[in-house]
Amino acid sequence: IDIRDVSLRYGDRQVIKRVSVQIEQGEFFVIIGPNGAGKTTLLKALSGLHPLSAGDIEIRQKAIAGYSRKELARTLALVPQQINADFPFTVAETVLMGRYPHLGLLSVEGREDLRLAEQAMELTEVSHLASRRLGQLSGGERQRVIIARAICQQSKILLLDEPTASLDPAHQLRIMDLMERLRQQEQLTIVMVSHDLNLASTYADRLLLLKDGEVEQIGTPRQVLTQEQLSKSYGCTLLVDENPLLGTPRVSLVSEKIAAAIKSEKVEL
Ligand code: ADP
Repeated sequence: IDIRDVSLRYGDRQVIKRVSVQIEQGEFFVIIGPNGAGKTTLLKALSGLHPLSAGDIEIRQKAIAGYSRKELARTLALVPQQINADFPFTVAETVLMGRYPHLGLLSVEGREDLRLAEQAMELTEVSHLASRRLGQLSGGERQRVIIARAICQQSKILLLDEPTASLDPAHQLRIMDLMERLRQQEQLTIVMVSHDLNLASTYADRLLLLKDGEVEQIGTPRQVLTQEQLSKSYGCTLLVDENPLLGTPRVSLVSEKIAAAIKSEKVEL
């Protein structure tokens, strides 16, 4: 994915300003940054859902504007942040929709499509929910169904907008481990927006830190997740030390009271 000098706007408000970044095939790439930084808008532009006001996005050396909708859906799958709970379909039907970009005009799903849908439901642990309607599920279950649909789509690029936000720790881990496995086995490229800096630290090859629509930093978790950088970008005190098991940066919140004590040099960080 080659993002070159991209600017994005809503009306006359520019929310992404001349962002450039290249994401390699098979990379686990995480976009972080404060609320309103433009992360979701950038992800939407990557999936062809938001027009570019300047610059270019190329996927596999082809401009995104040159892709048909179906071709783009075969190339990338988006797991959005908001999922409509009124979606009037069952879990199995929803996951099977991931096959549409692969079907010819007027053709129906075949055996292989059903097998892929079943496999995706097993991977995300939603098989037991197959006949339930999406509206009858918890937020976390719904999220796993949408991830199953994206996997069923069999595209080589997965775009995920805060995919673990409504998941409990065990499911967060399983989904992240699944992403990691898909990346290694299938050479999938994963682009994920996340507020979970520790998750990003554990899984990302590289991070993009966005602030006010601009690139603050791009680099490995070690390069980006520093106490100085994070505290500056998020406007609060964050403590960064080392994860004792993995050696990766570990980020902890510091309350305002303690931050004030540190400032007055009563506590040393
Ligand atoms: P993030 O994902 O980093 O929280 P977003 O990409 O959602 O940021 O939003 C970036 C900016 O664009 C914010 O200031 C937000 O208020 C604004 N924005 C988001 N969606 C819309 C919209 N549909 N219309 C107008 N402004 C929007």
